[in-house]
Amino acid sequence: MLDLAGVPHRASDRPWPDYPLLLGGGVGTFNPEPLADFFDIFLIGDGEEAIVELLAAYKQFQEQREGDPGRGKEELLKFLVATVPGAYAPALYRVEYDEAAGFKAIHPIEPGIPERIERRVLRDINSSRIDNPLVPVTEIVHDRGVVEIMRGCKRGCRFCHAGWTGRPVRLKDEEVIIRQSEKLVDEAGFEEISLLSLSTGDYPGIGELMEKLSPQIF
Ligand code: SF4
Repeated sequence: MLDLAGVPHRASDRPWPDYPLLLGGGVGTFNPEPLADFFDIFLIGDGEEAIVELLAAYKQFQEQREGDPGRGKEELLKFLVATVPGAYAPALYRVEYDEAAGFKAIHPIEPGIPERIERRVLRDINSSRIDNPLVPVTEIVHDRGVVEIMRGCKRGCRFCHAGWTGRPVRLKDEEVIIRQSEKLVDEAGFEEISLLSLSTGDYPGIGELMEKLSPQIF
């Protein structure tokens, strides 16, 4: 994708605003270091609120920059990291490695940059909305609407990355699930809905939810 767009792979080869910022996120970036040379910002944790804050901060920086066009990428990254909890800009940190043990420590390159990156947690999962659902123009693998019903998993299997990074367990209210399912059917035309979570069978009252949901949708 980067090659097709003519965008250099390494963040250090992409001056801003000549090139766009590359953002990473999701559970795959809970350890962002393997990709640190390539991305400008990682959002750590739940993204629903953080991405809105990041875009607002980006816009604010651009407006401020109109009076000071000399401000470049490093100033932008510092502003975003200082403004948006959960935003991690690898270029602003120095990582120490130990030859024997691997990763050792991470330090900001200068005072004023947060020492620790806070993992974002969406406390109220009911606020996770489905607005204007995208309708693919091609046949897709999982060709159905998806409604998340629970985030996190109560089982706590020790090996499970998703279970541990998704904590705490948060349940979506039944009425919200039904409303979002109807919206997907009405507005995106899906004929099938999948109830998404790490362990959907553990949603309390899953049987009752299915009974209420089926007649409303079909
Ligand atoms: S998602 Fe599956 S593997 Fe992970 S903690 Fe839950 S039950 Fe265990």
